[in-house]
Amino acid sequence: MADEQSPSPEKNAITRREFIWLSSLAAAGLMAGCATNPVTGESQLMLVSEDQEIQMDRQYSPFQFSADYGKTQDTELSNYLDRTGKKMAARSHRSHMPYNFQVVNANYVNAYAFPGGSIACTRGILLALDNEAELAALLGHELGHVNARHTAEQMSKGMLTQAIVGGLAAAAGTQGASYGNIASQLGQVSAGALLASYSRDNERQADALGMEYMVQSGYSAAGMVGLMDMLNSMGKHQPSAIELMFATHPMSQERYQTAVQTAEIKYKSAKKNPLYRDRYMDNTARLRAKKGAIDQMQLAEQQMAKKNFSAADTHLRRALKTAPADYTALVMMSKSQLVQKKWAVGRQYAEMAQQSYPQEAQAYHLSGFAKVKLKDYDGALEEFNRYDNVLSGDPNTLFFKGYCYEGMKKYPQAGKEYQRYLQAVKQGNYAKHAYNRLRQWQAKGLI
Ligand SMILES: [Zn+2]
Repeated sequence: MADEQSPSPEKNAITRREFIWLSSLAAAGLMAGCATNPVTGESQLMLVSEDQEIQMDRQYSPFQFSADYGKTQDTELSNYLDRTGKKMAARSHRSHMPYNFQVVNANYVNAYAFPGGSIACTRGILLALDNEAELAALLGHELGHVNARHTAEQMSKGMLTQAIVGGLAAAAGTQGASYGNIASQLGQVSAGALLASYSRDNERQADALGMEYMVQSGYSAAGMVGLMDMLNSMGKHQPSAIELMFATHPMSQERYQTAVQTAEIKYKSAKKNPLYRDRYMDNTARLRAKKGAIDQMQLAEQQMAKKNFSAADTHLRRALKTAPADYTALVMMSKSQLVQKKWAVGRQYAEMAQQSYPQEAQAYHLSGFAKVKLKDYDGALEEFNRYDNVLSGDPNTLFFKGYCYEGMKKYPQAGKEYQRYLQAVKQGNYAKHAYNRLRQWQAKGLI
């Protein structure tokens, strides 16, 4: 297949699941009605049911967690976050939702919520927080988005203008596009579309709800002031680290001022509540021990975004010197090598990443991709099967499996995978390749 153009990323494509979901949403739209907002008690246009919120969450959140290098393997930290979040969730307006709180291994500063109650924050933001009250403010804010059903609200509004279709497709096509064509093939199908951009009103409401939940759970309202202060100053001094956070959560001086005033007036009596700084420091100690390595990874990300791969490699080597088994650093190093077309070295780092975190999917995709490039199609197929076992439902895996079978000249099997792929995805270079092959093989009687 040396004569073939390299498989390229999906542009403007939506997955079959998204298509089915959109179709069902459109059907629901015929009966468009209003729902009572659980927080305000007011009637609100709502095309997404609670069951759909939970279902979307279950389908998409695993992809986002994986794109963020998986959930932390530090079980104590993970339990601590879940405990802290669930304490507040129990006091929220939708306490019955299936909440779960995750630390993900990404280095950038962000937190996000899926509409069914899966809430995550990155290790990057945990390093930037100073105490448990600030963490409570962060998780409370995300709980606010879930409770006021902001994602469902944004989607309902989007459906009216059909903007959501473009939104999903655009997200699928832009993933990883920032550092080159190969890079975009290393990513997974995007879940980012569900991380709707909230309106400023949504943000104000989430802040207010976050403060309510945290104070009810016994924290000082000063935690929200501290959080806003940290985000604002980071926005000024390290804007690149916080870009995504600002994109999904519009920030402003106004929100900081509101937090100050609300803490002073509405929650004055709770001002003396504890911040639990020591407890936060104890539970994040192992994470903070990696701060030097994570700083290097953040620098590497900046260099990769500028396509300065040799500079990125230098930072990653420094990160791996102090944290040799860090999954994120190993995956980043693998990606950097693959983007530079150093297939064998890229494969080596992907395999090291697999060893350090066998339950996480990304590294299997990367080694599969490297093996395709090295024309080790049997090996690659094995990797894509493993990937599928860990994280199923990514249509790109169907394409790559087909591509492996094609490499092995096993046309009937290849045809089967390509057909399944085309059922999910209709546009883009992968779809074109699969379609053309099917036609050729049918004409030659190979399938
Ligand atoms: Zn927000």
